[in-house]
Amino acid sequence: MAEYLEGYATKFELKKFVHFGCEVNRLSVLLPSTPDNCDRKTAASAVFVEDDRGVFVEEEEEEEEEEEEEVEKKNEIDDDDDDVDSWPRMVLEWTDRSGNDEISHRRIFDGVCVCNGHYSSPSIPRISGLDNFVGDVLHSIEYDDPAEYLNSTVLCIGGRASGMDIAREIGRMPDRTKRVYLSDSTCRAWEEFGNENNVMRAPRTLMIDDDGRTVHFANESNDIDDAGSCTVDDVDVIILCSGYDYSFPFVTDESNLELSSIPGERRVMPLYMQLWHARYPSLSFIGLPHSVVPFPLFEFQSDAVVSQWLRRTAGGRRGGGARSIVPLPPTSERMASAERDARSGGPVVAGSPSAGRVTDTHYLGSHQWDYCRRLSRMCGKYDDGTEDYISTNEALYERSKVEREGMVPGEKDTYRETRFRRLDEERSYDILYTEMK
Ligand SMILES: Cc1cc2nc3c(=O)[nH]c(=O)nc-3n(C[C@H](O)[C@H](O)[C@H](O)COP(=O)(O)OP(=O)(O)OC[C@H]3O[C@@H](n4cnc5c(N)ncnc54)[C@H](O)[C@@H]3O)c2cc1C
Repeated sequence: MAEYLEGYATKFELKKFVHFGCEVNRLSVLLPSTPDNCDRKTAASAVFVEDDRGVFVEEEEEEEEEEEEEVEKKNEIDDDDDDVDSWPRMVLEWTDRSGNDEISHRRIFDGVCVCNGHYSSPSIPRISGLDNFVGDVLHSIEYDDPAEYLNSTVLCIGGRASGMDIAREIGRMPDRTKRVYLSDSTCRAWEEFGNENNVMRAPRTLMIDDDGRTVHFANESNDIDDAGSCTVDDVDVIILCSGYDYSFPFVTDESNLELSSIPGERRVMPLYMQLWHARYPSLSFIGLPHSVVPFPLFEFQSDAVVSQWLRRTAGGRRGGGARSIVPLPPTSERMASAERDARSGGPVVAGSPSAGRVTDTHYLGSHQWDYCRRLSRMCGKYDDGTEDYISTNEALYERSKVEREGMVPGEKDTYRETRFRRLDEERSYDILYTEMK
């Protein structure tokens, strides 16, 4: 993965645009029609701009005036858009720790793409008694080396990608005699995994007794002990493989963005097409959908964001290519669509049935292909080549999915070793290597 990302950054000469060592602390909306706008150049909140040397300096008064003129000009250009104010500029505040001194910056941007990932803020399940558990409790984000658990009985709570991987890795350690429990709410019965050393599938973890030791599971009929009670009391370490929350610590109430991302919900709203802030599309979020092929999908999203910017700039709008870019619908329509997505759970793309849990709001799965097609059409770029690219991704995904179905501990996990060579033009792929090393 690291190699791929390095290669991508090198090919497209991206590193020169990245300000390493900088952390965004605050993102807020600058509404041209609100009085907050006038206030932004107080001593405590000076605006910084980059000078010819690439150094950030406090913005001069006349530049401020120029800026206001620019807003007016921009609004004139946008006169034929029905909702000029819905494309407000954004204020970004960040700290640069790349040098010896810590330097604070504040700057106004025409648009902001939030790409802060969603695998860094652990989602902690509510399990009664967890705080009193006598052993160690950690989240999968802290897991590193299976050797640390050689002599421990481990309970992994959550049986999807992280839980499966961790249970398998710990269970496979040579000379290991202790058990690994892999608990998941979709599991109805206790079950040993065929070939896997001591990995036992368990139903949903319910609670931990006051003794801090006895763990209760949802299933009433288990084979663990003769009494048939659904408990175990030999767990030394609990690893919470319960996923991650969307988190935007730099968005606060003062940001005035009306953005919601409540821990545990795994839902960000209001979003239009899982991408644009439905009210303020000058703010976009790349990479929120999950259960997708991430990087190709991110590229379609990025293209869509850029194309809307192109369309809105005077040159772009009058230039040839931008004519075919489909504008976003008006605010009311975007908000209604965002509301539907957020309330129905699960993907709502191009005529697909909307059903699912709130936590599946950003789940795309098999809907991702139509989602990519739709984004590409909005950019005015959808053609046979794009279709070949999407279809090939789909073919690879489906092929990989078949292999991943046997991914549970105890089954072969050959998909990791499979290598593909793309033959995009032919809507096909070659399997060059499928054997496990
Ligand atoms: C265990 C695991 C295994 C995975 N394996 C694969 C795989 O094999 N193949 C695959 O395609 N995908 C895989 N994924 C998914 C993949 O890692 C993500 O989809 C991808 O990293 C998302 O990229 P991103 O740029 O959106 O976010 P990230 O890679 O998370 O990058 C976000 C960046 O934003 C920075 N950032 C965050 N907050 C701030 C802030 N306030 N100011 C400034 N910078 C900030 C972070 O430092 C980070 O550099 C895996 C994920 C996990 C957790």
